[in-house]
Amino acid sequence: VTDYDIDVLVIGAGAGGLTAAIAAADAGASVAVVEKFGRPGGNSSLSTGSIAGAGTRMQRAAGIEDSSERLAADLRALSPENDCPKLVTRLAEVSAPTVEWLIDEIGVNIGLITDYKHVGHSVPRLHGPKSRRGQDLVDDLLRAAEQRDIPIAVGNPVVSLLDDGLGAIGGAVIETAEGRHEMRARKTILAVNGYAANRSLIARFIPEVSDLEYFGAQGSTGEAVLWGEQIGAVLENMGAYQGYAAVSYPHGGLLSWTTVEMGAFLVDRDGRRFGDESVGYSAFAQYVAARPAPQFAIFDQRMFDIAARESEFQELADYGGFRSAGSLSELAKLLELPPETLEATAAAFAKAASGEAPDPYGRRDFALAPLVAPFYGCRVTPGIFHTQGGLGVDDYARVRTATGLVANLFAVGGAAAGVSGRAGPHGYASGNGLLAAVCLGKLAGEKAAQEAKDEAGR
Ligand SMILES: Cc1cc2nc3c(=O)[nH]c(=O)nc-3n(C[C@H](O)[C@H](O)[C@H](O)COP(=O)(O)OP(=O)(O)OC[C@H]3O[C@@H](n4cnc5c(N)ncnc54)[C@H](O)[C@@H]3O)c2cc1C
Repeated sequence: VTDYDIDVLVIGAGAGGLTAAIAAADAGASVAVVEKFGRPGGNSSLSTGSIAGAGTRMQRAAGIEDSSERLAADLRALSPENDCPKLVTRLAEVSAPTVEWLIDEIGVNIGLITDYKHVGHSVPRLHGPKSRRGQDLVDDLLRAAEQRDIPIAVGNPVVSLLDDGLGAIGGAVIETAEGRHEMRARKTILAVNGYAANRSLIARFIPEVSDLEYFGAQGSTGEAVLWGEQIGAVLENMGAYQGYAAVSYPHGGLLSWTTVEMGAFLVDRDGRRFGDESVGYSAFAQYVAARPAPQFAIFDQRMFDIAARESEFQELADYGGFRSAGSLSELAKLLELPPETLEATAAAFAKAASGEAPDPYGRRDFALAPLVAPFYGCRVTPGIFHTQGGLGVDDYARVRTATGLVANLFAVGGAAAGVSGRAGPHGYASGNGLLAAVCLGKLAGEKAAQEAKDEAGR
């Protein structure tokens, strides 16, 4: 390809693609974004918008000591086995500058979350919108893209990459209302997320979750993996994913895991606990999936009040997602659980929480537990939220083969291999998804712009 329509073509308009496009535009490149669905946002819109940043000025102002080494160590502790350990170090290093850049240069309205730190993080380091809605993050990125006059063509799926036959990528083939159109670009950035909505890829790479319901955006159909394989890209950490143990049923909203971190426990239909809830919402999804439905989260008013600072939780409450009662036996009746068993479970949990007896499942972190009246219950179901494996990338998000790089191709966010290692749902720490989206997005956008300008002699 010698005639180019544009410097940088970004495929996918989630947080990763929008960040990449903004970074590339600010670095002086001409940029366009194509998005297959009628509106941008993807999984990023559905997320809670929380991004890990280690060593930010917001943390320092809150008296929290953190560093990239600490974040990398936390991630390695969750999943020591990792196909791309260098990426963990790299993303940890750029996490704080990227979060500050989003706030200072891009005008994204996020702040440090101090209400909870979520499993895997040894200190509070998630930064997110006050509303805890990923849509707010996406809206801020869209506004920044608009200010830079970056065209975002929605309803235009990319159907293949333009491959010169020698492994160099020169743009993509886009499906438009008028037919297929070749968009020639010096650099192409894959920001199409992972493959959780592609049942056959799930069956191939993570068969153990084939039966789990997928709660993310339907656009994650795995094109990065399918196209990457065709051009010899390496695939890494393909068995990793973000599970979620507590999607409210039948409402489908998230029961905030803050409830569990503040001291809630989960029971099966017999009113018995079945695992250490403090392994986190992603890892615990496997335990919930292994029990016959239904399962319930049991918590109290204090835990409710803390979680209610998140608007989605409050909405779930407003829509009748919870049952509440002044006693456990009344709550058990409302949830159709055996009252005596639920009371016995709560009594044993209280003993463990107050240090009178070891917890039979090994839980050590009980926060506000034992529970006190009034009590709440929520029926929950497990799900998968997104896949964490993808194309192997270098320090600048350039796609790797076994021996080198795929010329002119970058991958960011869920299209790239993540930092959650090879441990299925166990390696996922909150914020890992958007960390790879915005950090790789910024790295890819800047590098792609610089390479494109150099090649064009500008
Ligand atoms: C309920 C929920 C809560 C979550 N909370 C968090 C959180 O708080 N923190 C966190 O870090 N992660 C969270 N995640 C994970 C997070 O949403 C993802 O990791 C992240 O959004 C990935 O960003 P992305 O830009 O790679 O993908 P996306 O945001 O999904 O964007 C990809 C875009 O590419 C488009 N696309 C796909 N294929 C094509 C094609 N062929 N042509 C053109 N366009 C295409 C898609 O339609 C989509 O718009 C959550 C996920 C869910 C489901």
